[in-house]
Parts: sequence; C-alpha cells; structure tokens
Amino acid sequence: MRRKIVAGNWKMNGSLAENGALLKEVVAGSSGLSGVVCCSPYPYLFQLQRELQGTHVAWGAQNLSQFERGAYTGEVSAAMLVDFGCSYVIIGHSERRAIFGETSMTVAEKFKAAQDSGLIPILCLGETLAEREAGITEAVVGEQFDAVAGLAGIDAFEQAVIAYEPVWAIGTGRTATPQQAQDVHRHLRDRIALMSPDVAGKVPILYGGSVKPANAAELFAMPDIDGGLIGGASLVARDFCEICRAAA
Ligand code: PEP
Repeated sequence: MRRKIVAGNWKMNGSLAENGALLKEVVAGSSGLSGVVCCSPYPYLFQLQRELQGTHVAWGAQNLSQFERGAYTGEVSAAMLVDFGCSYVIIGHSERRAIFGETSMTVAEKFKAAQDSGLIPILCLGETLAEREAGITEAVVGEQFDAVAGLAGIDAFEQAVIAYEPVWAIGTGRTATPQQAQDVHRHLRDRIALMSPDVAGKVPILYGGSVKPANAAELFAMPDIDGGLIGGASLVARDFCEICRAAA
C-alpha cells in the first residue's frame, strides 16, 4: 500500500491572521489523519513551524533556489527551508514553468537541491490544453519526468512525490475525469517501472487540478492516484479537511 498524501498549495495567498485561523481549523479538522501537508509562501513558514510543530500536519514551501548560497538576490535555499522545519517543497509547478520561465533542466536542478538537503520534493508535471488536444500528453509529461530522473537518478524517487497536474485543470474549475487522470498516472508509473519496478510501486503520484470535496473521492478511488495537490480548496479549511478525509 502506497501512502496517501494531500498537500495544500496556498500559492500567493494568506496573511498572519488568515493563516492562523486556517491552520487551527486544519489541525482540528484533520485529526487522526496522516499525509496532510500545507505549503505556504516563504514569509509564513515560521508561522507554520510555530503552529504545526508537534501536530500530525507537515508543512513545506512552493519553490526553492537550485543554488546553495551566495549572490542570488531574492532567492531562498533548501537549507533555509530546513531551518523552518519544512519536510516538503513543491517543484516545477506549472505557474513557475509558464510565468517564471522554469525549464525542465532548472526544475531538475531544484529537485536535486531539495533532496540533497533532505527535503521531499513534490514534482509537478502536466500538459497544456493545446498539448492534450494535439495528443502529446504522454510525451510532454514524459519529457518533464525524464529531465529529473536523468539528473537525480530513478532511485531519488524513493524519497519524492509526483503530482500530475493538467495545466488546463488548474484553477479553472475544470477537472480531469478520474479516467483521464488515471491514464496519465498509469503511464507515468509504467515509465518508472521500466527504470525501477520497485520505485514504481512505491512513489506516490498525486492528482492536482480543481480538486474539490465533490470530486475528491472518485479521483482518489483510482488505483494509481495516491492523493492530491490542492490549490484553491486548500484555503478553505472545511473543504481541505474533507478532501483529506476522502484520501484516507
Ligand atoms: C495547484 O495550484 O496546484 C492546483 C491544483 O490548483 P487548483 O486546485 O486551484 O486547481
């Protein structure tokens, strides 16, 4: 049995006051569950450390620098995330690839930097609508995956999480059907199995893209979907907790 994970990606949302209330409700509303993760903007990581330490909820960031330290103005290193108690870091989210120009090679370097510091990367992969309609979904996610496996090695995925997030489903209210998601998850697992059947059996593959309480259970019931990466719904404690329960 692979472990189930539901990770909230708060994106660039929140404030000290809003986060305080949200975290208290998430801790209370998901008690007894495992695999619950909140990923906040950098400035609030101290608050997550303060509020979540000693609870069942883990926390992480949404990005990091591929560099260790030095003259990289505005960047945040893996070691800094470790200082604030992070266990996880989201890598290669489609918004970082599309808006901030992250290439598959940069994503691979960030993945490696995270793991070298003991963080668990949540590696995001996904195709645009145009790519899906052109019938190249598997080629696109395959290239994104291979760039990371090529640099970090397949065994690195023993300590990593993959999130399949079709770009056309993120923040749009348009969710992949459970079968559409399952097909890509199966393809990824089969691809990994060619390199290491052992890793393929173990690596959690999350689905992300407009997951809500109303659709979470049917998505998570698919054999290769091991939980979710949740954007908008992770800002509403009751919805997020309901999604966490659907994965349990
Ligand atoms: C995300 O940002 O990773 C995401 C899946 O967003 P949403 O749930 O809002 O579609």
